[in-house]
Amino acid sequence: SPPPGPRPIQRLQESVINRIAAGEIIHRPASALKELIENSLDAGATSIKVTVKDGGMKLLQIQDNGCGIRKEDLPILAERFTTSKLSTFSDLSRLTTYGFRGEALASISYVANLTVVTKTKADTCAWKACYADGSLTPAKAGATADPKSCAGNDGTTITVENLFYNTPTRLSALRGSSEEYTRILDVVTKYAIHNPHVSFTCKKTGNPSPDVSTPSSSTTAQAIRLLYGQTLAKELLHTSVSSSGKGKGRASSASGETSNEDVADAENSWNAEAYFTNANYQAKKTTLLLFINHRLVESSRIKRALEAVYNGVLAKGASPFIYLSLQIDPKSVDVNVHPTKKEVHFLDEDAIIERIADAVQQALIGQSQSRVYEYQT
Ligand code: ADP
Ligand code: MG
Repeated sequence: SPPPGPRPIQRLQESVINRIAAGEIIHRPASALKELIENSLDAGATSIKVTVKDGGMKLLQIQDNGCGIRKEDLPILAERFTTSKLSTFSDLSRLTTYGFRGEALASISYVANLTVVTKTKADTCAWKACYADGSLTPAKAGATADPKSCAGNDGTTITVENLFYNTPTRLSALRGSSEEYTRILDVVTKYAIHNPHVSFTCKKTGNPSPDVSTPSSSTTAQAIRLLYGQTLAKELLHTSVSSSGKGKGRASSASGETSNEDVADAENSWNAEAYFTNANYQAKKTTLLLFINHRLVESSRIKRALEAVYNGVLAKGASPFIYLSLQIDPKSVDVNVHPTKKEVHFLDEDAIIERIADAVQQALIGQSQSRVYEYQT
């Protein structure tokens, strides 16, 4: 038979487009959780409680004590491209929030059952709203879709149920619930270390005791010790470098106090702070917690540069733990590379990476003594 002729080009249905787009942002329970944690942090929460059932596939719930959502915003909350964080394109260059695309809640509503209970300080009661495919939906058959008043604390509780119920391929691509839970714990752990002033807990439903639990007034060094253990913590070094500095790591304070509050102020200025293990610590593979402007990101360039430093210090096959928080002028970062914002590129990348790698190396070879002192709390 002759080869088939061209087939007609058709416009995809809105619902198909949105479900495809959702799949690019929400890969698995842990990626949904990352978005939800970032929303809670953007809302100024000091307490974030995560509850998980069946690796987050059955249930993923996050309760925060942040600013809450105004009742009048609930109808468009889960629509695509609705956000309180960005209004003009140029806002992108001075973003201080994690979110900006207004896609996370929308995406979740396209691939899961989404319920929001929220209360602002000004509200006398909380409001509960359920969403499907970007819109309000009735909680049960016969009910209306409008938000219902209910009892609740200040802040927001987001419940995600039956993730990927309508995308069976995605569901079957997930690992078992225990591996998905491990990834969830990993995300919570990393954000807890980067936000030592916020209390985080993460537990499975029905379990009385959490698997991760941090206090709300801690330091980075304390959080690392709590979450990664004393064996690692006792081998930690600390350094900070900045564009205005002389290139040498500033010695850490005895308390291991962090300076996440130091934002890059002047044009193109930057500063970096790192906690990293010395030559006595030998892990099987590298753990790199990398935050750029408070976003958890990945950078194979930074990872390679740091591993090269450790190659000269550690025995073959041994790997370090590194926490690195880099703050750069928002103008010089392009956060808009990928919907998950995981991939970040910035100006002067090579020069900045080299300065950081140098500082780490100096501390490792002992030229800059900046041990994180042991201390009692
Ligand atoms: P984005 O974070 O990019 O704005 P999201 O879909 O993640 O998009 O959230 C949409 C909007 O919903 C946010 O801009 C914010 O106003 C509100 N929001 C989401 N989660 C919370 C929360 N936990 N507390 C307060 N407001 C929230
Ligand atoms: Mg968001």
